[in-house]
Amino acid sequence: RVKNDSRNGFHFVTPEMQLSASRNLQLENALRHALKRNELQLYYQPQISTSNGQIIGAEALLRWHHPELGMISPAEFIPIAESSGQIIEIGEWVLRTAIRQTKNWMDDGFTPMIIAVNLSVVQFRQKNLLTLITDILAEVQLPNEYLELELTEAVTMHDPESVINVMNTFHEQGIRMSIDDFGTGYSSLSYLKKFKVYKLKIDQSFIRDISNDPDDRAIVSAIIDMASNLGLQTIAEGVETAEQLAFLRLHGCHEVQGYYFSKPLPSVEFEQFRHNHDLTSPPLNQQADFEG
Ligand code: C2E
Ligand code: MG
Ligand code: MG
Ligand code: MG
Repeated sequence: RVKNDSRNGFHFVTPEMQLSASRNLQLENALRHALKRNELQLYYQPQISTSNGQIIGAEALLRWHHPELGMISPAEFIPIAESSGQIIEIGEWVLRTAIRQTKNWMDDGFTPMIIAVNLSVVQFRQKNLLTLITDILAEVQLPNEYLELELTEAVTMHDPESVINVMNTFHEQGIRMSIDDFGTGYSSLSYLKKFKVYKLKIDQSFIRDISNDPDDRAIVSAIIDMASNLGLQTIAEGVETAEQLAFLRLHGCHEVQGYYFSKPLPSVEFEQFRHNHDLTSPPLNQQADFEG
């Protein structure tokens, strides 16, 4: 009804736009209380070495359990938290929680593991970000080299000079940085030689159809080769099948992350996963070979 009217040019705001604007406002308001009401939780997804099948790290992924709306995806609420500025406080909570958890696991006797934390562009522009992070690491007594910061290409596009400086300081402090969703951004590749990046995370959109789509296979193997020639590590996101894993191993991708091994898990279930994985994981060479 209203949609028909909009063809006459009178309605610039569709009902859909109004709905989503009011939901965003609702979420923004609810987000103000989410932290102190304990509605936020970190899940952990294992990152597995393709050479020995060991868990070498985990990515911390934020979850929001809204009391009425249920589970809300970070893909929906992170952009809201970014535009409202709440990402600063939430991001600090994420860093502290993930770093503490990693230290606790180490103290409990689990093999030391790297914790990867997603960092928003907004956080990256914070003046005191380095101090904030190194203070948390010192306070928790987790050595700096166990922290990896996941940045998107968007970070590298904003004010490259200052980004280079910030990245250099992180690098000097022994904190690793990876480029998340690699291949989906619009920035020039030249940043790869200027920035102290440690690892490229190949976006899951290239992995999804790797078994059927020769273009995706070409892109993924080109990224792995380029990274390897630049001395960078690679990890593939969204690995769901043995066939995808076999292709990635064949082409020398160092690590994989995805539902094939595990979904992101709450900390207690992640502990259980680590325990079972150590006991039962079959050697990688017993898993399917890539045909094609
Ligand atoms: P991301 O950092 O690229 O995270 C990977 C996403 O892929 C996660 O979605 C993860 O659950 C999902 N995933 C992992 N394995 C598979 C798989 O095999 N198949 C499929 N289809 N998906 C898989 P999630 O947890 O919904 O997070 C979405 C995005 O939200 C993240 O993308 C990241 O950009 C953002 N995000 C999550 N937590 C945080 C956080 O603490 N801070 C910030 N700034 N952003 C966050
Ligand atoms: Mg990530
Ligand atoms: Mg990603
Ligand atoms: Mg993403």
